[in-house]
Amino acid sequence: MLYCKDCKTAASESPCPRCGNSKLRAIEETDLVFLTVKDVVFAGMLEDVLADNGIPYKAKGMLGAGLSVKLGTVLERYVFYVPYSAHEKAEALLEELFPPEGEEVIIAEETDEE
Ligand SMILES: [Zn+2]
Repeated sequence: MLYCKDCKTAASESPCPRCGNSKLRAIEETDLVFLTVKDVVFAGMLEDVLADNGIPYKAKGMLGAGLSVKLGTVLERYVFYVPYSAHEKAEALLEELFPPEGEEVIIAEETDEE
């Protein structure tokens, strides 16, 4: 497995499927890998589940402190990263918690369709 340092993604081949970076290196167990993006409410649930299962994680706010003060924390969304060694388990927990058919509403920010 390869690792894209730019967007923190595990990729099976180069270039990176998420950002197109072609300078990928071999992934290491301790590399932080992108897990998911959740809003405040779901981020809290996910944090609990990860903690209960002993999975270390990093959650980063997307808006940044300044903006979330201005817009209110309701709009803040969190990007979750977990070490590659725990990624598979974290993904399984994520699917249990948020089944794929229960697609959450994504705040429209970009649409590729005309
Ligand atoms: Zn990438």
